[in-house]
Amino acid sequence: MTASVLDGAAIARQVFSGLESRVAALRAAGVRPGLATVLVGDSPASQVYVRNKQRACEEVGLHAQVRELPADCSESELLAAVEALNTNDAIHGIIVQLPLPRGIDSQRVLQSIALEKDVDGFNWSNLGALVDGHPRLVPCTPLGVMRMLDHAGIALEGRHAVVIGRSSIVGKPLALLLIARGATVTVCNSKTPDLAAYTRSADVLVVAAGRPKLVTGDMVKPGAAVIDVGINRMPDGKLAGDVDFESAKAVAGWLSPVPGGVGRMTVAMLVANTVLAAERQSAARCA
Ligand code: NAD
Repeated sequence: MTASVLDGAAIARQVFSGLESRVAALRAAGVRPGLATVLVGDSPASQVYVRNKQRACEEVGLHAQVRELPADCSESELLAAVEALNTNDAIHGIIVQLPLPRGIDSQRVLQSIALEKDVDGFNWSNLGALVDGHPRLVPCTPLGVMRMLDHAGIALEGRHAVVIGRSSIVGKPLALLLIARGATVTVCNSKTPDLAAYTRSADVLVVAAGRPKLVTGDMVKPGAAVIDVGINRMPDGKLAGDVDFESAKAVAGWLSPVPGGVGRMTVAMLVANTVLAAERQSAARCA
């Protein structure tokens, strides 16, 4: 078997075209959805991520702005910058680019974003709503993985989904989304003994560990959907996922590449979350 490759760029384009009429309706009502990114320091990697997000926003007609702060800014300066965006009516979504410099309490900063503008979905209240099955704003990467699975028409109900990685931004929220869709979910982590015993029984396998080539073809159930979330910068400067693409491709039914897979979906879902946040905020203002 040779897997169908899940083209994140093409699926993201579909997401964007689905947003066009919603953005047009907002703009007709005098609302231009706005995303603000708070960027602390001058890490080249963060700058690239921020630029990609801005470009995606502008492609769909959103307003995107970056609030830059120096690497040696204090936590209170950063909190004040977030608060100014919380009360700015032109901004409907706020994200803080991670990682933050040492000495700054990332959680305190993330939790200070207004709930309705928390388009990364990292606020404990938004995560709690997801746990309870009433999602409000959901983290973008797990949302992008679900969109990818749905795009390919991959059934989830009654299937075994294995998620490798239990972080609060990828593994855990993704497990909750899969549970909500009727999958039987196993979440593995770095302490899981005999990882392959789990992966080989997975109809859907999502890998978010940050370990290049953690999953090889012999660990994949024939015909399974394999979604590679990992982004690893290799010594030669190239990006690689957590899945050995060539060996997995020979066994899986569907496979997402890195680059060009989940990363594109994450950005697309950030734009989608910002449009959703703008719709809700403008409806709340009209009510
Ligand atoms: P994290 O470091 O917070 O969590 C990694 C998880 O993987 C942990 O739960 C750990 O227990 C588990 N793990 C590590 N090694 C393992 C092993 N050998 N076997 C089983 N489990 C193992 O990372 P994160 O923030 O969840 O990100 C994971 C990866 O996804 C990283 O490569 C990151 O760059 C990437 N990522 C990509 C996107 C995207 O848009 N494509 C978004 C977020 C994160």
